[in-house]
Amino acid sequence: MTITRTVEGLKNGTVIDHIPAGQGLRILRLFKLAELGERVNVGFNLSSRHMGAKDLIKVENVELTEAQANELALFAPKATVNVIRDSEVVKKHKLAMPATIEGIFACPNSNCISHVEPVDSFFYVSEQTNDIKLKCKYCEKGFSKDIVTAVE
Ligand SMILES: [Zn+2]
Repeated sequence: MTITRTVEGLKNGTVIDHIPAGQGLRILRLFKLAELGERVNVGFNLSSRHMGAKDLIKVENVELTEAQANELALFAPKATVNVIRDSEVVKKHKLAMPATIEGIFACPNSNCISHVEPVDSFFYVSEQTNDIKLKCKYCEKGFSKDIVTAVE
């Protein structure tokens, strides 16, 4: 497959498109995309033929890995994550729900040992009918995705 489509205004970096409207800011903050010291372009509530409204994030000079892209699946399972080099799309990540998530979310259990030990948080992810559950490796408590990912 040859990919020739160029991405307006981005020479090298990652474009995260088709984010459900309202989740873009959350993704920016949770994944600290604005703290990388690179230029970030965001579009919120852009019109989308398929989604009605969507958010979009472009990060210059940062290439999201497969694992990082999969972590976005928690918030934006239908997002497209394209890696750009020399204005060309060189990689399109297909998002899959990750089996585990490390180091991004703090455990909601204030008694959890992960808050006092020098360890990264670690959750096992399980998909349920109407929810996604995250189970902490350290205290073994399970939480709804929305509790773990609530941004203050
Ligand atoms: Zn815990």
